[in-house]
Amino acid sequence: MSLIEISDYRLAFDGFEGRVHVLDGIDLAVEAGEAVGIVGETGCGKSVLARSLLRLNPAPPARVVSGAIRFDGADVLAMDAAGLRRLRGGTMGMVFQDPVTYLNPVFTIGRQMEEVLRAHEPAMPRAARRDRAVALLDSVRLPGPAALLDRYPHELSGGMRQRVLIAQALAGNPRVLIADEPTTALDVTIQRQVLALIADLVERLGLTLLLISHDLGVIGAACRRIVVMYAGNVVEDAPAALLFAAPRHPYTQGLLAAMPDLRRPGHMPQGIPGSIPNLRDPPRGCRFHPRCPLAAEICRQEKPELRGAPHAVACHMVPA
Ligand code: SF4
Repeated sequence: MSLIEISDYRLAFDGFEGRVHVLDGIDLAVEAGEAVGIVGETGCGKSVLARSLLRLNPAPPARVVSGAIRFDGADVLAMDAAGLRRLRGGTMGMVFQDPVTYLNPVFTIGRQMEEVLRAHEPAMPRAARRDRAVALLDSVRLPGPAALLDRYPHELSGGMRQRVLIAQALAGNPRVLIADEPTTALDVTIQRQVLALIADLVERLGLTLLLISHDLGVIGAACRRIVVMYAGNVVEDAPAALLFAAPRHPYTQGLLAAMPDLRRPGHMPQGIPGSIPNLRDPPRGCRFHPRCPLAAEICRQEKPELRGAPHAVACHMVPA
């Protein structure tokens, strides 16, 4: 049994203009201790999938159409409020993209750390909570953690604020860290530092990591396994080294061709022609077929299955 098991999971959002088929039969198993990156263009469903693990997609409008999500054998979709509370923050810690949105500007870092700790351990004495807050800020390598407790979010840089959010995500001693675009709002140097910190925490604390990003470079820096999503489907799932050396799905090949390569002077990144489909009325068969240079008649009729291990691909034109 894997730590996280997602099977044939379909999720839609019901809106005024109809139903949007956001996740279309996701199968994904993650073992304890794995560092898995989920990559794809904006709108491919990767963040919705990450939030599904914690049942954070508001329902309605979100509606589970079919499938199952299990964490350590427990049925996440059937959990009651107490089970969900244990799961959110206690078992799985989540870090979001924009620290400005998730830190309250009018409260000090100390007060916000205390609130998170109180939610996890209401009986912990105040002095112990303060010590624990300092230890958590120290564990994410924030300098002068005791003095930081009296500072306000606006007094911290973007990278420091993101470290505070990571410290909060660790407050409940989670087994899984879910980081959704944690470096997108940061400049490149700080991005690298935050990714190195996440990789170090995963190693040190024995965490399972799910890192969500639109940027294959970010994913490659922290993950050993990469899951590529396109328009609500997993199209490729492989060890990072294999995926970078020999991508098999035409979409993954397009993503790699779109990456700048500073080692090759004069190299011009090539964008993928076309745009992601409207998921209110997604293309029949393979959802990538309107943009795919290899598309054949079967691609317009039948959805390809994800096949192969450890390098799985969903494409009619790629042999298993
Ligand atoms: Fe392209 Fe067909 Fe493969 Fe889809 S199944 S990626 S359309 S070749």
